[in-house]
Order: sequence, then structure tokens, then C-alpha cells
Amino acid sequence: MLNRLFHLLAGADLAIDLGTANTLISAAGEGLLVNEPSVVAVENGTNRVLSGGAAVGHLAKQMLGRTPDSISAVRPLRAGVIADFTLCEAMLRYFLNKTRRRHLGVGPRVLVAVPGSITPVEKQAVYNTAHRAGARQVFLVHEARAAAIGVGLPVAEPLASMVCDIGGGTTEAAVLSLADIVASQSVRTGGDSMDQAIADYLLRHYSLSVGQATAERLRIDIGSAFPLDDELVDEVRGIDRASGLPRRATVTSEEIRLALADPLEQIVDAVKAVVDRTSPDLVADLVQQGMVLVGGGALVRGIDRFLAEQTGLPVRVAPDPQSAVAKGAQICLEHLADWRGTLEAGDDDV
Ligand code: ADP
Ligand code: MG
Repeated sequence: MLNRLFHLLAGADLAIDLGTANTLISAAGEGLLVNEPSVVAVENGTNRVLSGGAAVGHLAKQMLGRTPDSISAVRPLRAGVIADFTLCEAMLRYFLNKTRRRHLGVGPRVLVAVPGSITPVEKQAVYNTAHRAGARQVFLVHEARAAAIGVGLPVAEPLASMVCDIGGGTTEAAVLSLADIVASQSVRTGGDSMDQAIADYLLRHYSLSVGQATAERLRIDIGSAFPLDDELVDEVRGIDRASGLPRRATVTSEEIRLALADPLEQIVDAVKAVVDRTSPDLVADLVQQGMVLVGGGALVRGIDRFLAEQTGLPVRVAPDPQSAVAKGAQICLEHLADWRGTLEAGDDDV
């Protein structure tokens, strides 16, 4: 009874996908409430968040790579884990505040999705940060499990399900069966390293220096992992390395594909490593069931066909791949009694 009253005061439980590139928050029984870049803009020296604490998310992402010396636009997560505690807390507090329409001083229970490769120290950082940002109780769920649940795979069955989450900083491939992770592999390759590869290519072949935002736009506009029926062309603007002056260049989708070869190969290696560690019977399931791609990197053109060709598995892209983890975490919260056994809790949260 007292517990029920408490819940009423605190409002809905929240599922959080605290990603390197984007943070998504959804409420149990409701759906997605926050979907914003994991970026905070601060004043250098004081580390104060600009615009009275509101220069977070979309607003701050526009500033990435475009700040004067007095300001930094910072991504508080690196490779899926918290790199800057203070700024991550400020960011999370801001996002949590956005979700609270009516609460009477009691923070929400939150379930945070974390990479499988997270260390105990990094986990503790998530508990502390979430508590300090206002959460009353904090649980953790393995991102791959949340993703598999989010896309509706039969994870609880004695059957192999496979997901590959291609995010901003990392790619994580995992095989699940009977609600558990059978094998998983995480590599520090994702959208960011693809953008870096594109920037490197332009510097090498065109002597053109471009920022990360430009490289990302190019990848989203014309990037691909598999030959396109109609190859694309785009114009890119940067700085000529020799003259130091602004210059344009015309780039084709074939060239971008060439630039992406290395990061794509690392993703293939991660998938192969997981399949390697999976028992023959489960691999037999995978050949039947295939692998589902989630995360923003799943939106790279032809990445499903490329991975299918490279791994010999059927591959499909989840519908709405970028919100699969948040959706799965939300489902865990909505059926907490069923999933509680698979979640981790901090010492203060049991
Ligand atoms: P994270 O979980 O690490 O926060 P996300 O799953 O949100 O990452 O994916 C972010 C990545 O997805 C970024 O690198 C972004 O460039 C990429 N991305 C988003 N939309 C597209 C698209 N349409 N085409 C290619 N890449 C995309
Ligand atoms: Mg992610």
C-alpha cells in the first residue's frame, strides 16, 4: 500500500538508453519521451552548462565542432560508458527533468541499458550518476538483451537469437538463448569511426580537411556498405590542406564505401567472433533465424546485404533500429517481475 502510494508520487518507471551518440528515455506504459544527442555545451574553465543548464541534446549537438575557444560541446560518454561524470550527470538530470510532468519530490525507478563489456567500476559510475541525477532506484540491463526484447525476438525460448547493435562509439554483437547471453563481443567501431575513416580518406585523396559533422552528413547522405543500384554523388566542403583555404570536392558513394572498408571489416570480425563462440546447435538456429541489426549504424545503406554476404547468415534491419534498446528496456520495466532475475541492481537498489 505504502509502496503503491510511493509509485504514484514518483510517476512512471523510466527506461534509459544512455548511448554514446544518443540518449533515449521511455516511460513504462507510455513510450518514448526523450530522444536527443548525448551532448552537453559548457563554458570552459567553470564547466557550467550553457543557457542556464539547457544547452543539452539537440541544442548542444549543433555546437559540436563549431564552438569558440570559450565554449566546449562535450559528449560525456565514450564507447558506451561514462567518460565525464559531472557532465553526464548534468545531461541526465536535464533529460529526466524533461520527463517529469508531475512528481512530488520522489525520483523515478530507472532501468539503464549498458554495454556487455562494461566493467564493475563503470557500472558503479552509472548507478551513482543516475542516483545523483534524481533516480530513486537504479537497475541495469545488458543492451543486447534489451535490443533483442525490443525487436520482439523469442529470447526466452531455447533457441538462438542474434542481434548486432551498431552505435556511435561501439558495435556489439550477441547471441541469446533462454533469456541469457550465450556469447557477445564488443568492438570500438561504430558511426564515429566510420566518420573518422571518411575524414581520413578525404585528407589522403583530396587534401581536404573536414570536421566530424561534415563526414557524418556525407555518410548519411551517400554512405553504403554494398554496391548501390544507382551510385550517388555529393559535394563536400572543407579546408584545403596546402593552401588553408576553403574548397569543395565532389565525392561518389563508391569512394565512401572504400573509405568505410576498415570499420566495416571490424564489424564483420565481431560478428564472426560471436558465432565462433556459439555451440553448433545454436549456430544451426542462427542459420535459420538470422541476425537482426539495431542502432543507428544499421541505417547505413546495404549494411544488411554486406553482413549477410560476409557472414553467411540471413540479416535484417530492425524496424526503427535506433529505438530498439529503449523499447526493450521499457518492456523489461513493464514486466519487471518476469525480467527482474536478469537485471542487475546496485548495493543500494535491491
Ligand atoms: P549510440 O547507441 O551509440 O548512442 P545510435 O544507435 O543512436 O548510437 O546510433 C548513432 C549513429 O547512427 C551515429 O553515428 C549516426 O551517424 C548513425 N546514423 C543515424 N542515422 C543514420 C542514417 N540514416 N544513416 C547512417 N547512419 C546513421
Ligand atoms: Mg546504443
